Amino acid sequence: MKTEAEGSMSKCLACLTSCTPLWRNSPLGFKTLCNACGIRFKKRMRGGLPR
Ligand SMILES: [Zn+2]
Repeated sequence: MKTEAEGSMSKCLACLTSCTPLWRNSPLGFKTLCNACGIRFKKRMRGGLPR
């Protein structure tokens, strides 16, 4: 079974999923995080102490 890769075949660096509606950037690279992890990462970077 083949999966539809949109443009590039990539995996999220955090959760290793390759299925995400939207790729997000991380300090480690361009579009290396899935949507969920990207948001989580962003929140962490925006400040605020991780609980
Ligand atoms: Zn992820």
